Amino acid sequence: MLQKTHTLAGLLTAECVLSYFHQPLLTWEGGAALLIGCVAGPLADIDKKGSTMAKILLPISWGLHLLKVKHRTLTHSLIFILALASLLSALPELFYLTAILAYASHSLIDMFNDQGVALFWPWKVKIRLLPKFLAIDTGSFSEGVFRLILAAAAIAYPFLGLSSGILF
Ligand SMILES: [Zn+2]
Repeated sequence: MLQKTHTLAGLLTAECVLSYFHQPLLTWEGGAALLIGCVAGPLADIDKKGSTMAKILLPISWGLHLLKVKHRTLTHSLIFILALASLLSALPELFYLTAILAYASHSLIDMFNDQGVALFWPWKVKIRLLPKFLAIDTGSFSEGVFRLILAAAAIAYPFLGLSSGILF
């Protein structure tokens, strides 16, 4: 999937976490959580040369390249998500859950892709959640539709939660 799709998934994840904590969006904490979601969502693609995350975090991207880490393997794996969860455990609960769940949303939606994800890396088998004919190719029309659904959900979600004070 493209970075903008993962960013939207991260944003939607952050909104869900904020809702879980009954934390309004339009606060410093809410804004910080949304930002964390937008960054953590596409972060796993740091293993992809030329991706925005690889350009932003160039030294880490170079390191992964030198270690010959292939795309959709280590950084998309369950073991890496668990390591990250342990590394970030000192964060306040709101930011911690946002970061981990937004990061994990990446592997989840990449599994809708035709190529799948090596979720149980170092086991090399790539896991795909949809049959090939329904799988969403990167940059395809179906990814555009999927992104539109994510965008609509991300826009609608705060308003649906108005009565419980999600916005203010
Ligand atoms: Zn990816």
